[in-house]
Amino acid sequence: MENTKTLSDKYIMNTYSRFDIAFSKGEGVYVYDEENKKYLDFTAGIAVNSLGYQDKDCINAIIEQLNKFNHCSNLYYSRPQAEVAKLLVENSCFEKVFFCNSGAEASETMIKIARKFGKTKNENCSKIIAMKNSFHGRTTGAITLTGQTKYQKSFMPLLPDIVYAEFNNLESVKELIDDNTCGIILEPVQGEGGLYPADIEFLKGVRKLCDENNILLGFDEVQCGIGRLGKLFAYQHFNVEPDMAGLAKGLANGLPIGAVAAKGVAATILTAGDHASTFGGNPVSCSSAKVVLNKLLNEGVLDNVCETGKYFKEELLKLKEKSTLIKDIRGLGLMIGVELTISVKEIVQKCNQKGLLVISAGANILRFVPPLIVTKEHVREVIKILEQILL
Ligand SMILES: *Cc1c(COP(=O)(O)O)cnc(C)c1O
Repeated sequence: MENTKTLSDKYIMNTYSRFDIAFSKGEGVYVYDEENKKYLDFTAGIAVNSLGYQDKDCINAIIEQLNKFNHCSNLYYSRPQAEVAKLLVENSCFEKVFFCNSGAEASETMIKIARKFGKTKNENCSKIIAMKNSFHGRTTGAITLTGQTKYQKSFMPLLPDIVYAEFNNLESVKELIDDNTCGIILEPVQGEGGLYPADIEFLKGVRKLCDENNILLGFDEVQCGIGRLGKLFAYQHFNVEPDMAGLAKGLANGLPIGAVAAKGVAATILTAGDHASTFGGNPVSCSSAKVVLNKLLNEGVLDNVCETGKYFKEELLKLKEKSTLIKDIRGLGLMIGVELTISVKEIVQKCNQKGLLVISAGANILRFVPPLIVTKEHVREVIKILEQILL
């Protein structure tokens, strides 16, 4: 029989450069490959498996929902999505939620909200300011927001009227604002771009510019939201409220889901017929999201992110003192980047070989986005492996 790699390479489009690992099962924060090799997972499906693998409460909620109905058109009401929306709203500054299935769709939704809002200002008000070095997903709208030509160049022409400012440079944002600007969309912590947190002063400044010029502010919290920084929403870490926030990755602990939470005019501008999704707010995904939100809010997971994240960063800083290969340690909560002085590719391979799953962000940054339930014990395991590779 052909192995999984051979089968995949033969029948699946060649859009990923994959590691030579095929998963067979996960347990807690560990995964096993088809040869039964065990890995400590500090990638978590790229910030997706927030409660790790086989969380019993998630499994039970999912099975319970499967035994009722696994899909329901948005032409009808369904309770799980209403309950997830309530949890998101009651624990944030937001008032309403739109459900979709992915981060890219959350970005698309924010573009549509900003553009429709623009029409209420003037007919030509469609300009959106995004950031250089950002990442917002792979649909044509989302790659237009993404300020990195490597994701765009083969797919021109893109959406008109999207321009790029420099991240953490308020002047460069200000220079791009005019009467036709309807929205500013940015990641509070740039993920794919290399784990760059926004300066609080920058976010405050952007908020002020939006208020002064009647512009909607959207945060793409797809990677940095839902507990990743130690608060439910990333904006809560910075204490700067956007008009809308895009969510996805970790929200349903591994089931596909996306959402935009919004307040004020951003929460009401889209009306019947403007936007929709067949699978958006899927009841099975939402039943899992409900468990995630409850555990983050009520079972100490957010505190764990703060504590373990802080410990992890301290231990990495100690490692930096001893290693000539580490240039910088940055990030917040359990979203941490280690910038190396060398190419990261080989280092990632070595980590994999030693039983640690970690990924890169850019050419020389190691990215750690583990399940939000990792402990200091797991961190020590990671540090031990890194010591073997980087010292
Ligand atoms: C991963 C990511 C996306 C895209 O999410 P998909 O679910 O792959 O479409 C968008 N924005 C950010 C910040 C991301 O990290």
